[in-house]
Amino acid sequence: MPDNHDESWLDDSLDPPDWEAFRQTAHLALDEAIDYVRDVRHRPVWQPVPEAAKQQLSRPLPRSGEGMPATYEAFRELVLPYPTGNIHPRFWGWVHGTGLASGIVSEMLAAAMNCNCGGRDHAALYVERQVVDWCRQMLGYPQGASGVLVSGTSMGTIIGLAVARNARAGCNVRAEGIAAAPKRLITYASCEAHSSVVKALELLGLGHNALRKIPVDDKFAIDLTALQRAIDEDRRAGYQPFCVVGCAGTVNTGGLDDLAALAKICAGEGLWFHVDAAFGAHCALSESLRPLIRGIELSDSVAFDFHKWMYVQYDAGCVLVRNGELHKKTFATRPDYLQHLERGLAGGGEWFTDLGPELSRSFRALKIWFALKSYGADAFARMIEQNCRQAQYLAERVKADPLLELMAPPSLNIVCFRARPPHCPEKDLDRLNSEIVAGLQERGIAAPSTTRIHDRLAIRVAITNHRSRREDFDMLVEAVRALASELVATAS
Ligand SMILES: *Cc1c(COP(=O)(O)O)cnc(C)c1O
Repeated sequence: MPDNHDESWLDDSLDPPDWEAFRQTAHLALDEAIDYVRDVRHRPVWQPVPEAAKQQLSRPLPRSGEGMPATYEAFRELVLPYPTGNIHPRFWGWVHGTGLASGIVSEMLAAAMNCNCGGRDHAALYVERQVVDWCRQMLGYPQGASGVLVSGTSMGTIIGLAVARNARAGCNVRAEGIAAAPKRLITYASCEAHSSVVKALELLGLGHNALRKIPVDDKFAIDLTALQRAIDEDRRAGYQPFCVVGCAGTVNTGGLDDLAALAKICAGEGLWFHVDAAFGAHCALSESLRPLIRGIELSDSVAFDFHKWMYVQYDAGCVLVRNGELHKKTFATRPDYLQHLERGLAGGGEWFTDLGPELSRSFRALKIWFALKSYGADAFARMIEQNCRQAQYLAERVKADPLLELMAPPSLNIVCFRARPPHCPEKDLDRLNSEIVAGLQERGIAAPSTTRIHDRLAIRVAITNHRSRREDFDMLVEAVRALASELVATAS
């Protein structure tokens, strides 16, 4: 034990010695953060990190501190000007959400509270329970369903499929491992399903060869006849069909599986029905879009994100499991040092650590709670509908333009197209369009991404952006046209 009379005993702390000085830097940072978001439209969408900044960012561990003001200065110079760009109105790459002004405040407050949301009895858990319950209502899940906030749909899918595996493997997976399963467990998803499904199967010991990639129809929805055939074949071969992953919004084209039909097949075959609704889930908020994901309420588990089509700051995802008991049975463990007590801080309701692999957890719920409470669900419905209308608008512009070609019927909020200048041979179009996308990004004009549709490279515009306006799509079309002409001219 330290001796209190010992000279070396210090009541030291990392708190600021001068809170007023700290307050000044903090207020400056907040003010500048607000300006940064307000003025984003006037900056380039993206710019590469300069070599000098990369060098600064690879310097060794500092033994002594430079203080907050100097660190903030370094951040302003080296970090702040070089973001992904997804807060910009012309960022439409991959599926990146925009972020919300409310998140600037809620993230700061969550940091001030610094709650550990693994469990125990404190307000943050009640906030998370409320957010999860709002999600349950939004997606039409029954009372008794459980849910937990996670980093994103990738983690949500791992959790959903872990519950499925443990419930259906036919052995005690927690004790014996998946090797004890009497039969090989087979999962089905469309060939358009996200790579996170593959990763989940690998991580859960099921292996990606146990994923049957079912073909899609011309709207990029899973072919139900082919699915049924694959299930029958696997049964005949002595495997155990165990799970179907439905897509509510595919990453390539925004394609939507017929979830109600998948639910029926799963009920008939005794399969677990998981839905990847990473961005599609939020269609549930809109009267007009809700029918597109009909059947999601019949699934056994569903994973989705707030950081995509609800624009909430990263990272924020959720998984819901219809049978809350099975969910808990997959993850609950309480060693002595985590015992639940009747009273005090170790009491309260369910602990979130019993619903996933993580023990320590951040207060993710606060930014979602702030968003839903301050804007209201209807505001999100309006923005989501607006993004869908913008996709239709862009698709119409593409169709009307002889220089451009639509690559897939626009579904939800995703448009895939390409430039196709006259006399440019088909074999050169992939390179041309990939250079157009690189050019758009490098010049800071816009940030779409690319994908392949029917084995052709497409410029892919996924609109999960509440800042985009009509003029931004006009600017995109003009810039694609201009770059196409420029590139064709320099090539010839
Ligand atoms: C983004 C995405 C995922 C993965 O979600 P993360 O939040 O990035 O983990 C899964 N499926 C689809 C359809 C997606 O768009």
